[in-house]
Amino acid sequence: MSDLIFYFGPFELAAVILGLIILSTLAVTIYVRHRRLAERVHLLDGFPFPAILYRNSRSLLSNAEGKDWKKNLELQALVTEAQYENQNILRTIPAVEGQSYQARAIRLSKNHTLVLLEDMGAAQRQQAFYRNFIQNVSHELKTPLTIIQGHAAKMGEDPEDREGWLTSYRIIRDEAQRLTQLVDNLLTLARLESPSFTLERTPLNFAALLEEAILQISDLAEERQLAISLNLSPGFPHLKADRARLKQVVLNLLDNAIKYTPHGGELTISLRPDEKAKELVCVVQDTGEGIPADDLPYIFDELYRARRVKGRPVEGSGLGLTIAQQIIHAHGGEISVQSVLNQGSTFTFTLPYASDKEE
Ligand code: ADP
Repeated sequence: MSDLIFYFGPFELAAVILGLIILSTLAVTIYVRHRRLAERVHLLDGFPFPAILYRNSRSLLSNAEGKDWKKNLELQALVTEAQYENQNILRTIPAVEGQSYQARAIRLSKNHTLVLLEDMGAAQRQQAFYRNFIQNVSHELKTPLTIIQGHAAKMGEDPEDREGWLTSYRIIRDEAQRLTQLVDNLLTLARLESPSFTLERTPLNFAALLEEAILQISDLAEERQLAISLNLSPGFPHLKADRARLKQVVLNLLDNAIKYTPHGGELTISLRPDEKAKELVCVVQDTGEGIPADDLPYIFDELYRARRVKGRPVEGSGLGLTIAQQIIHAHGGEISVQSVLNQGSTFTFTLPYASDKEE
């Protein structure tokens, strides 16, 4: 039997070291590529609209929204042009299924180009929305300001007219109050819509909150000779919610119920748990003037006020229900309305709860 002899000399040692260097270089290269790929995927996923990364003029990666665009010839031509001219290019891509897009080719490196596609329809709709919103707000601000200016001028005309002076003073005070409320509501809405908005959730006894809100509006209801009843089913689950915000929802609904219900009407507030859906269901019902069917789909829209068929003018900004809806949505709930003209309106909102412990 012959012995197997391995000879391990300087050449072999050099070969092993070289092998190790090649292996570790390979590992580092693979790791770096993997990281770069993950970073690019992360970058593309961060865009809410189609985003595609090209290497030369071939698409390399895209986010989910950009998948269908990867083979688009117009985009490939745009990328080739951006590379050839070595500059960023912005171009409108002709309508695809009725929608126009604005494509932005951004040079990232010698070989890489990022293409972002913005739906121009969405941008135009948003612009139209803000234009409309600013027009409506200006109109809402202008009416009380004109009244204030008119009465301030009147007060200066004849300082001896004590009665006229007092009337003007009251009108100015009320209109200033209306302006303050409008501005407060606008600020609340801006806060609710800001990306940094968070709810301050604490354990909450919602039945107690309802009782407190009813107490708060009871003088007003009495003044208008409205009867209020509260129906509470026994045993409520715990709720972790933003107390101040939810109180605002309840007060907005109660305030509307009072405003839009003629003397002698009734307000009924009820609260029950829906164990199957794991949510609290709160209903605010009135026997008031109701809302025209044509207006119903819009009453939660910003600054929308339904046409009033008859009766006295009612003050308001058309923001109370928008604010209520935003707050309920922030809690993961839903708010809806049912209404019959001259019979009354019923607002229902839900609030999901996590645990099933009794209060
Ligand atoms: P406003 O300050 O005008 O009351 P809201 O956003 O609270 O604004 O309500 C929007 C519109 O919905 C109101 O202008 C009114 O036309 C209608 N509305 C709301 N609640 C009621 C209700 N309980 N009865 C009748 N109409 C209502």
